[in-house]
Amino acid sequence: MTHSTTAGADEDRRHFPATGRAAEEVLDELASHRSGDVRWDEGRTFGLVFDGGDEVRAVAEEAARMFLHENALNTAAFPSLAAIQSDLCAWTADLLHGPGGTAGFVTSGGTESILCAVEAARERARSERGLHDPEMVLAVSAHAAFHKAAHLFGLQTRVVPVLADRTPDLNALADALSDRTALVVASAPQYPQGVVDPVAEMSAMAEAVGASCHVDACMGGFVLPFAAMEEPERWGSPPWDLGVDGVTSISADLHKLGYAPKGASVLLHRSRALRRHQTFDFDGWLGGRYVTPNLQGTRSGLPMAAAWAVVRHLGVDGYRRLVRSTLEAAERIRVGVRAVDGLDVPGEPRHHLLSITSTDPSLPVFAVGDALAARGWHHDRQGPPDGLHLTVSAGNVPVVDRWLADLVEAVDEVRAGGLDSGSGDGAYSTLE
Ligand SMILES: *Cc1c(COP(=O)(O)O)cnc(C)c1O
Repeated sequence: MTHSTTAGADEDRRHFPATGRAAEEVLDELASHRSGDVRWDEGRTFGLVFDGGDEVRAVAEEAARMFLHENALNTAAFPSLAAIQSDLCAWTADLLHGPGGTAGFVTSGGTESILCAVEAARERARSERGLHDPEMVLAVSAHAAFHKAAHLFGLQTRVVPVLADRTPDLNALADALSDRTALVVASAPQYPQGVVDPVAEMSAMAEAVGASCHVDACMGGFVLPFAAMEEPERWGSPPWDLGVDGVTSISADLHKLGYAPKGASVLLHRSRALRRHQTFDFDGWLGGRYVTPNLQGTRSGLPMAAAWAVVRHLGVDGYRRLVRSTLEAAERIRVGVRAVDGLDVPGEPRHHLLSITSTDPSLPVFAVGDALAARGWHHDRQGPPDGLHLTVSAGNVPVVDRWLADLVEAVDEVRAGGLDSGSGDGAYSTLE
């Protein structure tokens, strides 16, 4: 048997492994696959991985090990998971000003929360209003997952532009609303530039046409509440959560700034009746009655148990501490970027998300991204306009000064020439 030659490795990848291998050898091989991965544990990714520090990781890893094999498909068999899910929903509802009766589920992530929210809004419009050609009204800044949902669940999208401050154009939004609107989408904050939409205005407009209003707080759900507790003047926002009457559902990702490992988000509905539109209940199968709350069938207990442990471990005081240091770091980054000739931070983001654009055609921002990548920093790329994206989280706090120094060097290098203009590709992986 070949082991270590390249030809052997290629051969291994084409065929189902013929014979088993010792665990140690397998784990070594797996570890070697990681050699090219970005160093998130050194704060090198502004996004993708959100590191709450050694203790947070340790408690998550122990909980994950404990619940690695459990299945939340049937919570009657695993009452522990029913309790874990219901705690996470109740705690999040408390944080996001959910009225009594607020009900939700844990999903596998922001995308699944959004898919379920869109599907629930469609079902509600069908059953309450007899609406069969539903539309979703959303700003061009709203997350791509809403378009995925429209694609999967057969809604038409009405896309509204944003103003110079990157908040949705409310006049255009008013024009896009009609008796076919099933859902209006607001973001707190939106991902591309990190600004918080005017949720109260948008949800009132939705309510006036009988539509649902979903707030995408996937990024902000476990940041904005703590930010407002820490510094209401500087970091507070106008009402944006379930405390606003017209908001019918909201999503908040535990696996982002909730600092839980991947695979956990909370989707809340204002009432159990609204949540009912989300569940799929089928009784025409030889396998018996089949009821699922979201898109998955078999559902790992690991992410929700690990998320539960992290939230329990951090508590309000722990999150406040992480949010304070993160938002102070993000502020230093914004000030530092704006001090560089030819670079800008669009909009007025005040929290942990921001983008960097170029105001100088001789300074292509993707080339700056390449020069930063050569120094070991990972930034997602976006546009229009061409931009580098930063989600600042606790893991980045210790390396902000190094990043700022490398940014200045990267800009000098691009200005000195010798680099091509860079590309926006590689923002998200492709499967081709
Ligand atoms: C990350 C994100 C999503 C999608 O969540 P996933 O966990 O990546 O599926 C949706 N909306 C916003 C604002 C996000 O930042």
